[in-house]
Amino acid sequence: MREGEFDIIQRYFTASKRAPRKDVLLSVGDDCAVTELNRNQHLAITTDTMVEGVHFLPSIRPADLAYKAVASNLSDLAAMGAEPAWMSLALTIPNIDHAWLTEFSESFFSILDHYNVDLIGGDTTRGPLSITITAQGIIAKDKALCRHNANVGDWIYVSGTLGDSAGGLSYLLQGKSAVNSAQEFLIHRHLRPTPRVLLGMALSLTRLASSAIDISDGCVADLTHILERSQCGAVIELDKLPLSAELVSEFGLAQAEQYALSGGEDYELCFTVPDSNKAKLAKALAHIGVNYTCIGQIRAIHPKNKNRIQFQRHGQRVEVEFAGGFDHFK
Ligand code: ADP
Ligand code: MG
Repeated sequence: MREGEFDIIQRYFTASKRAPRKDVLLSVGDDCAVTELNRNQHLAITTDTMVEGVHFLPSIRPADLAYKAVASNLSDLAAMGAEPAWMSLALTIPNIDHAWLTEFSESFFSILDHYNVDLIGGDTTRGPLSITITAQGIIAKDKALCRHNANVGDWIYVSGTLGDSAGGLSYLLQGKSAVNSAQEFLIHRHLRPTPRVLLGMALSLTRLASSAIDISDGCVADLTHILERSQCGAVIELDKLPLSAELVSEFGLAQAEQYALSGGEDYELCFTVPDSNKAKLAKALAHIGVNYTCIGQIRAIHPKNKNRIQFQRHGQRVEVEFAGGFDHFK
């Protein structure tokens, strides 16, 4: 297999030679790092970069770009169960364009205000357009939703619907604009994903979930991160995948399923719930404002199978061919 971004992180940026600081509770490898803030609270910290031509098309509107850069960071905080608090913005722009900066900054502050987050610093430089945000949020002590605590028998849930963002992106890549309300919906889902902040906080505060991740690189790729860190496997029931009516009507069931499994940038949460907590979910999540669906279960890794994930359709085992999740170097 070709080297990917995770090989680089693993080889060069995972281990320092000295013993880790005692106040670092979770380091490289999860949606956020977690450090000790005070006796009752922990701090979740995440950084995400967006580069023109890689993460967004040159044609993107500055308001959409600002929204998405913030939303992708909020999504990592949500995956940890953190309450968003502060952001820093490192902005690299090719030239000073006041109309662009006005639209970008208004949209940026609009989403920050919505989540009660303050911009507390950053850096501004000239160069090819790129945006790096560091976001910090607060978690009650020992309540972070990590990737490494899933257990055999836990149920696997995802929020919202999957694959819409990839569907919307396919129109933008062809330079097409929406010709009906379904296409409009899918493009909107790509440009304006909703970070599932309240859901993450509810799962953390109630302790109902054993692990969580946000789906930025595709459901299978991101669930695999949970499975690797938790040293287990899983079964996914294909007929349970939550697909929007818009995605299915525009692309058909087979393509919609592909997008749901491997399309990126849904920014939904994937989380695992022990069987003993399953019945309590409905009450705990009644007022969160997002649907959630059980799509499978954590299993032991089957010694004969190289794949961590088995797929089933209507209870019968099936093989699935699909493109892997997004990796910058593959
Ligand atoms: P996410 O998709 O949740 O934003 P990534 O896949 O980008 O996370 O990164 C995986 C993990 O590796 C994260 O814990 C991230 O903080 C860490 N990481 C990524 N790049 C580096 C780096 N250059 N140095 C240290 N840690 C890194
Ligand atoms: Mg993440």
